Amino acid sequence: MSYDLVVRGGTIVTAADRVVGDVGVRGGRVVTLGDGLPRGDQEIDARGLQVLPGGVDVHTHLDIDLGEMRSVDDFEWGTAAAAVGGVTTICDYAWQHQGWTLARTVEEWKARAAGRAHIDYGFHVVVNDASEARLAEIPRLVAEGYPSFKVFMIKEFGISDDALLRVFRVARGAGAVVNVHAENSEMLDLAASDMIAARRWDPRHYAESRPALAEAEATRRAIDYAELTDAEIYVVHMSCRGAVEAVRSARQRGLRVWGETRPIYLGLTEARYEAGGLEAAKVVGAPPLRGPDDQAALWDGLRTGDIHAIGSDNCSWTVDQKAVGADDFRKVPYGVPGLETEMRVVYSEGVARGRISLETFVAAFATNPARIFGLYPRKGTIAVGSDADLVLFDPAKTERIDARRLHSRAGYDPFEGLEVTGIPVLTVARGEVVAREGQLLSRPGRGQHLLRERAR
Ligand SMILES: [Zn+2]
Repeated sequence: MSYDLVVRGGTIVTAADRVVGDVGVRGGRVVTLGDGLPRGDQEIDARGLQVLPGGVDVHTHLDIDLGEMRSVDDFEWGTAAAAVGGVTTICDYAWQHQGWTLARTVEEWKARAAGRAHIDYGFHVVVNDASEARLAEIPRLVAEGYPSFKVFMIKEFGISDDALLRVFRVARGAGAVVNVHAENSEMLDLAASDMIAARRWDPRHYAESRPALAEAEATRRAIDYAELTDAEIYVVHMSCRGAVEAVRSARQRGLRVWGETRPIYLGLTEARYEAGGLEAAKVVGAPPLRGPDDQAALWDGLRTGDIHAIGSDNCSWTVDQKAVGADDFRKVPYGVPGLETEMRVVYSEGVARGRISLETFVAAFATNPARIFGLYPRKGTIAVGSDADLVLFDPAKTERIDARRLHSRAGYDPFEGLEVTGIPVLTVARGEVVAREGQLLSRPGRGQHLLRERAR
């Protein structure tokens, strides 16, 4: 058998096990796993390196348009950062604007990505209008390759509880999973209004405006709604102990509930807000950074399998854009860049420090999200027949995170200055080397639009 590419002598790691050997690639797919494969047209010496499935980040917001502000990482720059960071697949949120059908929403996002992406991408559809006409579109979208939707429980983007229940019911009937941003608006409003009355709106106080209890309450409520409607839900960006406990207890009751967390909750705490002003504004997002006890619960949830996936929630703003809210957290656009640094940060803080196993890392960054969102086994593992999406980690290599060397156009990184151990040194996407040692070797437009199908 002849190969386009052989990745030779690395430690091949999946969510289940690891073995030293060669990966033979032809036509963009893995065709042989074994030992002593014949020479390929291209050879990569992976001795001493770990060969992992490329990252599958199912939580990104590229090219977000808030009207007065547009995020700086579009599909070209965001996926460039992803490729260099070891992420080979994303699912981005196609955001329904006022007056758009869900079908138009998908078309708008397809147009934003077309010809620009470096890696493969799919879309979840954000439902902001749950009228009967829009809900009626859900089964067709599922059949067309978009079997996941998102709802917000917060007022800024949210829908009523009544609408939430109807989305859950229709999604359940169509075999879709619903991604939920869970925070209780009334509880947030109460906390924020007390702070506004006391003129405490410097970003240093931001965490106090979004109490963990508001997240835990909404998570429990979403789970109860899912139980009532027999829906399958995926709780995005969990940041606190109460949310993890809610998911754990739901799963113990046999409910189909999945949980996700973000690298910034695993690697940073609310102490980062103490600097105040712009430094605090740079890490403003929703939910906020939490305390050490919440962080410990997240690592524990990864270990026990109650947190299934890690998503960056990448939404990039420049320092100037963040500075709009430097003295008032209500004006800060939410979000941080994360696609390029997420795998190395969680590897370093998690695997290198012994908090999670390498297999758990692979499960959370690749296998589980691919399974939940209908990409497996094409994506999310290293197996014969799977796409040859690989990231090679050098477990011994160290570096200091330096935004000047990153590809995001944000110009800063929340982990700036962090010393990390374990670096993705080479990324292969569908058999092509798209990044090596921090250099992007890809071209815009090589990424393909992924249509997904979930097992029912
Ligand atoms: Zn998000």
